[in-house]
Amino acid sequence: MRVNKCLPKNRMFKKITESFLIFLFSLQTFAEVKELTILHTNDLHAHLFPRIAPWISESRKIGGFANLATLVKQQKASNPNNILIDAGDYFSGPYISTLTKGEAVIKSMNFLGIDAACIGNHEFDHGWDNMLEQIKKANFPILNGNLFFEGTDDLVWDNPYLILERAGLKIGIIGLHGKFAFYDTINFKMTEGIEARDEEEYLRQYIKELEPITDIIILAVHQGMPGRQSTIGLTDVERNLYKDILLAQNVPGVDIIVTGHAHQGTEKALVSNGTIIVSTNATATELGKLQVMFDTEKKKIVSHSNELITIYDDELEDDADMLREITFWQKEVDQVAKVPIVSATKKLVRAYGKESNMGNLFADAIEAFDPRIDIAVINSGALRQDIKPGIVTKGDLISAFPFPNTVVMTKLKGSQVVKIFNHAAGMTNGILQVSKNAKYSFSPRNKAHEIWIKGKPLKNDDEYWVAAPNFVTQGGDGYWEFQNSIEYIDTGVLIVDAAEYFLQDMEVYEPKYEGRVLVIDSEI
Ligand code: FE
Repeated sequence: MRVNKCLPKNRMFKKITESFLIFLFSLQTFAEVKELTILHTNDLHAHLFPRIAPWISESRKIGGFANLATLVKQQKASNPNNILIDAGDYFSGPYISTLTKGEAVIKSMNFLGIDAACIGNHEFDHGWDNMLEQIKKANFPILNGNLFFEGTDDLVWDNPYLILERAGLKIGIIGLHGKFAFYDTINFKMTEGIEARDEEEYLRQYIKELEPITDIIILAVHQGMPGRQSTIGLTDVERNLYKDILLAQNVPGVDIIVTGHAHQGTEKALVSNGTIIVSTNATATELGKLQVMFDTEKKKIVSHSNELITIYDDELEDDADMLREITFWQKEVDQVAKVPIVSATKKLVRAYGKESNMGNLFADAIEAFDPRIDIAVINSGALRQDIKPGIVTKGDLISAFPFPNTVVMTKLKGSQVVKIFNHAAGMTNGILQVSKNAKYSFSPRNKAHEIWIKGKPLKNDDEYWVAAPNFVTQGGDGYWEFQNSIEYIDTGVLIVDAAEYFLQDMEVYEPKYEGRVLVIDSEI
């Protein structure tokens, strides 16, 4: 039997109309809007365990990796197209990091579900070779594309970017370290033989490589203003993330920047030159959650929203694998950490822009180290954790001052001491905390006014022995004047050990404020 393949005219018309509608429909489904969730952390600073963070809650414990791991799992389960990015500074905080040179932190991060992380300045706190040794233990990708072995084209960590696929979208993630932050905040002895190169130049290069083969480009970067080390101080988000705003202006092509270093949370994401910028308030107190809608026809992000989820210990179950890991490490270090040193009558607290009783303790310990020392100074940023009243353990001292810095004695002209205090007053990196033999007045972001040494006004032509952590005397935080000293003695003794010698023969220690630092016309 023959089948007549010719259709009547009206059926033919119907068929064409149907095909056209299918074509239109297929066009519509092609132009899809896809949701992507970028979970983000930065500056975790080894806070493996929950604790009271009084600026968030006086009574509810905050943070901890076991809670964070659970929260990440929950968020990943309810947001299928997700990525977790960390923007560096996982090392240095509680003593568990110092005593394991970061190993406890990296091994614990292996249970966080991180998809990409960049390297921060504190990963170098025990030297670049240790940094390499530790990050090799990570089971998640760590990215950096602008740290090189000096004078070569060899990246220190040869993994500048990666490409992930989510919801059918190709997502390029680049990792960089700000050049300024690298030289500003790392003890140069720890980075001898390696160099940071201009982040803008390398970002442009990697964008060029990634743009043709990806839909979205994300930058994980560690840069900008160094993290605030007290809860008192700046809350101006745009000022703290200015370097990221500028980077986005100067280098177009990045869709999202996940940044670290400033310890500055972005309740609302910032937008600069079309680039979305996010960060969290650091020390594992919160998880950032950026959601973006990507239009596949326009080939761009058409809307976004950011949220900072506070990690409340009483709202989250501990992740069992993570708990096992951090408990193991805690036991490893407890023998050293639990040794009692002294009993403190009050809480020891830090401050960034004014005198702190913890700054006084550490500066006094350095001053007492050698009878030749006239005064001791200490950078506010070196102090990382308050100490509760009562028994102070070795672990508490290490958590308060987690860096392996040594006591350095320098002989300086009075005029050089003035330059040093003027730099402190400039507030680029927080003021100098001083020992009992020193006193100074200053205007923030301006200069020092009066400086007294052993109760007498400083004389420009007199010479003084000024002691400080080697980080500072080597030019850290911009204190380059120490490098012009008349004499320079690195005692090789750790600051934490100096503090232990200072305290161990006391029955009790009374933390005190003595008006050593006078703030005039304060804007902080
Ligand atoms: Fe940092």
